[in-house]
Amino acid sequence: MKEAEQLIERLNNGVAPQFVVLDAIDQLAEEGFELLSMEKPWDLKAGGKYMVNQHESSLVAFTMPSKILQQEELANRLENASPYLRIAAAHTDYPALRIKATPDMKTGVYGKINTEVYGGAINPTWMDRPLGVAGRVSLKSDDVFAPRTVLYQSDRPVLIIPNLAIHMNRDVNKGVELNPQKDMLPLFTTDVEHHTFVDFLAEELEVSKEEILDFELTCFATEQAEYVGVTEDMISAPRIDNISSVESCIYGLLDAGVTEHMNMAVLFDHEEIGSRSNKGAASAFLRDLVEKIFVSTGVGAEMVIAAIYQGMTISADVAHAYHPNYPDKEDVTNQPVLNGGFCIKEASSQSYATDAEAISIVEQICKKHEISYQKFVNRSDLRGGSTLGAISSALLPMKTVDIGIPILAMHSARELMGTQDIHSLNQLIGAFFKEV
Ligand SMILES: [Zn+2]
Repeated sequence: MKEAEQLIERLNNGVAPQFVVLDAIDQLAEEGFELLSMEKPWDLKAGGKYMVNQHESSLVAFTMPSKILQQEELANRLENASPYLRIAAAHTDYPALRIKATPDMKTGVYGKINTEVYGGAINPTWMDRPLGVAGRVSLKSDDVFAPRTVLYQSDRPVLIIPNLAIHMNRDVNKGVELNPQKDMLPLFTTDVEHHTFVDFLAEELEVSKEEILDFELTCFATEQAEYVGVTEDMISAPRIDNISSVESCIYGLLDAGVTEHMNMAVLFDHEEIGSRSNKGAASAFLRDLVEKIFVSTGVGAEMVIAAIYQGMTISADVAHAYHPNYPDKEDVTNQPVLNGGFCIKEASSQSYATDAEAISIVEQICKKHEISYQKFVNRSDLRGGSTLGAISSALLPMKTVDIGIPILAMHSARELMGTQDIHSLNQLIGAFFKEV
């Protein structure tokens, strides 16, 4: 249960992408990982442990090999099938409500907040839930090119979106469409004459409201993760997609320690909205970072490309478990269940990176170390989702596999997973990083 306890702590801490990154940095720093900047030259040491924080909501952490290989030695090493560069990737963002600029709205005595829905949220699950606010805020500074940015998390719920009473919508149980611009605006105060959101934020940050220039703030469900089931064999929590995978990427990296090859845990923001940004999986960030590592240790451009092509990525993101009330929504021969182990996800459309050779590497690791796994494939008449594996493998064309813990209620404000499954994903990523 220790692994589940650690996951629960991370689920509770990761209220916004910036806090998922901060939580990972805290844990990695304790283990001796040192922060580097993409904007400066690097002097990487053999056995060194490093991390790069990209605009506060994406993070790469990596360990240098115990011996840094030079040009010729690297060429020889790459003859070996065992990947020299190993990446485990996950995303830090989740579907939620984001607070818009100029957020204050008045309706009579009520103060409401203007929000937009970020990613594919199940909108009704956000109703009647106490909501906190977290993210980053940028503040005025003397240097125009260097505004101050601060991370902020409210220590209590400050927002809520009340449902309309059934007496005013007798058809509510037939399903109700919620308009994101009208029906999903959180209530902030019953005394709008004396309270605005911007005043509240300024007070919380101990600055004047004129100093607040802009922010990236997420409304988060303040309820904590909980065990569910007669034997506590399930975990109900916000943000299981995709903090469960973040946890395993960090766990695996720390479990492996320094090896003779290069291991990298990559946490990307913006997966839920397509990954295209200056810190998402569709950006040049990861490729630039990989090139920078090799070039800074004296490896030439041709061998950098060789190392990329010889590498391997495991992209971790949650999968759909078989739902007891909707058995007809799952594939007819592949029906992963809660507590059956992590899933290998396949789709011939390549919405999941699907490569029989790469998948069998993962299966061989599992068989060797007795790690339980299942396979997930969408029903042929359902389109299903996608994730960052296919996007990152288009930019780093190495062997790539999409895997993840099977869950229920994906993209609900509270999702459900099997308590045992974090163990199988932790084991797999640890073994992937350690295998010689
Ligand atoms: Zn996800």
